[in-house]
Amino acid sequence: MKSFIYQNLPARVVFGAGSLAQLPREMDTLGAARALVLSTPEQRAWAERVAELLGARAAGIFDRAAMHVPIETAREAREVARQLGADCAVAIGGGSTTGLGKAIALDSGLPIVAIPTTYAGSEMTPIYGITEAGLKKTGRDPRVLPRTVIYDPELSLGLPVALSVTSGINAIAHAAEGLYAADANPITDLMAEDGIAALGRALPRIWAQPTDAEARADALYGAWLCGTVLGAVGMALHHKLCHTLGGSFNLPHAEVHTVVLPQAMAFNAAAAPEAMRRIERALGATGRASAAAGLFDLAHTNGAPVALKDIGMNEADLDRAAEIAVSNPYWNPRPFGAAQRGEIRDLLQRAYEGIRPD
Ligand code: NAD
Repeated sequence: MKSFIYQNLPARVVFGAGSLAQLPREMDTLGAARALVLSTPEQRAWAERVAELLGARAAGIFDRAAMHVPIETAREAREVARQLGADCAVAIGGGSTTGLGKAIALDSGLPIVAIPTTYAGSEMTPIYGITEAGLKKTGRDPRVLPRTVIYDPELSLGLPVALSVTSGINAIAHAAEGLYAADANPITDLMAEDGIAALGRALPRIWAQPTDAEARADALYGAWLCGTVLGAVGMALHHKLCHTLGGSFNLPHAEVHTVVLPQAMAFNAAAAPEAMRRIERALGATGRASAAAGLFDLAHTNGAPVALKDIGMNEADLDRAAEIAVSNPYWNPRPFGAAQRGEIRDLLQRAYEGIRPD
């Protein structure tokens, strides 16, 4: 076994159907008495439910969380938290809402309680992102890691089925890249493989029956494990491509991950055979399909997009996307710098057309 470092992140996880009801107890554990509740405008009713549960301990609601955390929204939310004298933020929603909580914590050190309702996994990471003048800046800071995460599968029963599948594959992407990360270790490998297996089992069941409570719990459990991997080890080509396509071409986050993942896995397959073997095993695809093809099939058979052309990408922008992706490459098991621009352009073409990898 190779030598490794595993840094455990200090988050407390409360998992289970109905666990939202534990929020007041979790506030006590944190020693917090005035919560600012965060949500998107679409999930305002959820924020109200949380405020009702907290009673006098709800200081107010800020319901303007938005994709990629615009700096103006972050500044406004920070000011509202300050004016209300909030001593914690409760973020109920997907990665955008958790991201707003992180932007507040980055500035103020306010503890965050995250209540995730998608499978994006941000609640398990010390990674933040803030968009200023059209540019998304990301960084790592231990202050933004939520102190407590309440995973209540009942809250995802109504997550639209299309978003459930793409969000679940977004989670799988963290684990898949974690398996070949330069700083991967046996603990994150275990979490990655089990996370992919849980989501691989759950997504077809959710597609067939969105209110399947057991499948929802399995998916959320998988999302937790995959998010933990994202928080613990470095990401590579796949995340770089998604960051490029999402950030510079404004494509929807979870869908981009879904389309790119099989193509990124095909690109890396020969350079990371052990990771591929584990992905195939997790998907139950061993001997039947490669990791890349197994992930493509998981998306395609469950109604998710597999082509960039179907999620708003212009073919004319593929050259520029390839240029941006290789200009400041991440570490990857197969290098992808300026010398590989043509190969990355080919990968993007296949992603654009939605070609099933071998
Ligand atoms: P999102 O948070 O933007 O949510 C998408 C939409 O779904 C929103 O309108 C939201 O209100 C709605 N929604 C969420 N849960 C719902 C539910 N249960 N029922 C009905 N509607 C629901 O989407 P996301 O994919 O969760 O997050 C994407 C964002 O998170 C991106 O900005 C991405 O960069 C970020 N992210 C960050 C990290 C990190 O570690 N920092 C990790 C993953 C994602």
